Amino acid sequence: MISEEEARRRILEAVSPLDQRAVPVSSALDCFAAQDCFARLPLPAFDNSAMDGYAVVASSCHKGGRLRVIGEQPAGPDRKLRVGGGEAVRIFTGAPLPQGVDAILMQEDVTPDGTDISVNVDVEAGDFVRRRGCDLAEGQMILSRGERIRSATVALLSSQGFADVIVGSKATAGVISTGDELVKPGEELQPGQIYDSNSALLSALLQRCRVSAIAVEHCRDDRESLGDAIKRGIKNYVLIISGGVSVGEHDLVKEALRKLGADIEIWRVAIKPGKPFLFGNIGECFVFGLPGNPVSAFVTFLQFVRPAVLRMMGAKDLDLPQVPAKLAVDLTNDGDRPHYIRGKLEHGRFTPIGRQESHALFGLSQANALLRVAVGQSFKADEIVDVQIWD
Ligand code: AMP
Ligand code: MG
Repeated sequence: MISEEEARRRILEAVSPLDQRAVPVSSALDCFAAQDCFARLPLPAFDNSAMDGYAVVASSCHKGGRLRVIGEQPAGPDRKLRVGGGEAVRIFTGAPLPQGVDAILMQEDVTPDGTDISVNVDVEAGDFVRRRGCDLAEGQMILSRGERIRSATVALLSSQGFADVIVGSKATAGVISTGDELVKPGEELQPGQIYDSNSALLSALLQRCRVSAIAVEHCRDDRESLGDAIKRGIKNYVLIISGGVSVGEHDLVKEALRKLGADIEIWRVAIKPGKPFLFGNIGECFVFGLPGNPVSAFVTFLQFVRPAVLRMMGAKDLDLPQVPAKLAVDLTNDGDRPHYIRGKLEHGRFTPIGRQESHALFGLSQANALLRVAVGQSFKADEIVDVQIWD
């Protein structure tokens, strides 16, 4: 049995980023940038009006004064107008500033009077003017390698005129749920049978990692079907097998993998829940064997599979987000493995929830955070701890 840290290190050493490719910015959401990107244009790209109103020269514009409106500048092509003292140009939000202009009068602050306007407020240079480059300078980094492309990133790249962006390829994954006791939801249960929930769990967790295609299948605990299912599964970049990785006579996964020429790099890790975890590869496909107990599958997925899959897709940040929380109870780990406690994080307070046992799926479903308690570690109630979140 190896430590959790050692397992993670070996897994991340084994996997490397998949190929890079150019994709249209419009379909790059949730991909990871494969290169740093720099601004080609400043933002705003030119001085422009922040309001619908009148473009003026501030020094000749005072409360109680009058200005003559000499033209109009809508958003769009620059009409190259020029404004002098005592004059104004009707202007609209986003329109380029006419020459000589250093302030915008909001239309709410004037009273139109034929071709003139009366000014109802004092005006200062810079009022309602958006200066070129005040938001973003040309050449500034707008996206760094390994960063996830979010909705605002897609907008920023578009604002720079980029039609495509270079990203890491998305991984594909196969999921095999093993067990003679398993029945597909929707079908009828016989005594002793249970519904397969790990297929849904692992598929959902993979979707959260933005894996592009997920092929799920159920497999009975027999050598032949398992061998066939594995042969199909390894056509993906990643294969996750749930159940059958422990030490019982019906736990056939390790043997089936070996028979197909797998290199098994890790089997059994000091982590609770999740000890009978397996990692290896068959050719190009990385194989993860997760314990069948749902909470064990969940925890080992988040601690080992998630960082590996993210690394393959080119992500730089592989850790689960961590947030500080005030612990609601005393906690001690006097076991021999680090323990991931499932709990509810609410208003900055973390409370362990449900049965802390590896089969207890309902408790897990009520949890939204994990607290890792190392071997021998003790926490007191009201202590501030870092908890991991995933959704
Ligand atoms: P195993 O790792 O195959 O020994 O399974 C450990 C426990 O997890 C057993 O109680 C199984 O019935 C349960 N289990 C295995 N696979 C699944 C699954 N796909 N969905 C729900 N429970 C499962
Ligand atoms: Mg089983």
